[in-house]
Amino acid sequence: MSVSAHVYDILIIGAGPVGLACGIEAARKNLNYLILEKDCLTNSVFHFPTEMRFFSTPELLEIGGVPFVISGEKPSRQDCLNYYRRVAESFKLRIQLFEKVEQIRHRDGGFEVTSSQKSYSAKNVVIATGFYDHPNPIGIPGEQLPKVSHYYSEAHPFFRRRVAIIGGKNSAVEAALDLFRHGAEVTIIHRGDDFGKSVKYWILPDIQNRVKDGAIKALFNTRVTRITEDAVYVVNGTAAEQRVENDFVFAMTGYHPDYEFLRSAGIDSEQQKACFDPETFETNVPSLYIAGVAGAGKGANTLFIEHGREHAKKIVAHIAMKMGS
Ligand code: NAP
Repeated sequence: MSVSAHVYDILIIGAGPVGLACGIEAARKNLNYLILEKDCLTNSVFHFPTEMRFFSTPELLEIGGVPFVISGEKPSRQDCLNYYRRVAESFKLRIQLFEKVEQIRHRDGGFEVTSSQKSYSAKNVVIATGFYDHPNPIGIPGEQLPKVSHYYSEAHPFFRRRVAIIGGKNSAVEAALDLFRHGAEVTIIHRGDDFGKSVKYWILPDIQNRVKDGAIKALFNTRVTRITEDAVYVVNGTAAEQRVENDFVFAMTGYHPDYEFLRSAGIDSEQQKACFDPETFETNVPSLYIAGVAGAGKGANTLFIEHGREHAKKIVAHIAMKMGS
């Protein structure tokens, strides 16, 4: 393993929109930074459903003050990928892609950060790793079968297939509508008694009407107990377990930050939410910061890019102030 002789002012972990925003702020303050990313640029956005449109309007997704202009109202996944690549290019951001950070160790008043390829020294570290890599498991037999996925990509392969969707919020509803419109036989299975209150107001009537007219089947107050090659088994209240014939399952049960990684870096948590100063985003480990949804614990679905880019400004301002930059 090679060792970088350089001591960075800031090492940023994650090249999502928030990690990129941290890099831009660091460059503006003349701080010596590097962004390390385990996959491709904005890897989470890359893995969003192929045909998705963001709920946010483009100005809420802007970083570094670079205007994000599109012809319609809401940007597509592809618009976002194009935009963030362009921003990374125009700021000439220093990013190492496909290099996974494995360990952060506090050492000699700074940090030793070990990646899959190299060991780095840094005075400050910012964790901006998002949450999309860690789906919330249901914890039932059969969840590991190849027919089950926590990520929805596109509908075409599911034409004339029996698809069960677990969950009742935005991802579940969007996947259900898309699959139905591409000829899949869709059943939504949700533990709640109705679709979640966070389902966007322009999507809700669509799903409600599809359920009402029987085009999409919805099982509320229902839990999936196990999944097999050709069925899912469900329980509604105290009734006996029922078998639902099935080819594929999308478990749209949400996502959570990498709790284990945060713990291994020494970050304390309360009810799984990382401990940090809400003004500076510095964690209980001095000079170790957390930005965006990585620090949000179970509330990760209530934070968006528009919040994360503000975290980036506050974090870098705090570091620059400490360093007298
Ligand atoms: P989410 O909001 O966390 O919803 C997860 C759903 O899964 C909830 O209905 C939850 O049930 C259910 N669930 C969780 N654990 C479960 C378990 N163990 N067993 C059964 N059901 C379980 O996740 P999401 O819908 O993926 O949304 C994540 C974020 O992405 C949100 O911020 C959302 O707004 C955003 N999003 C954006 C777009 C877009 O921009 N186009 C599209 C989709 C999502 P309960 O309701 O009972 O808790």
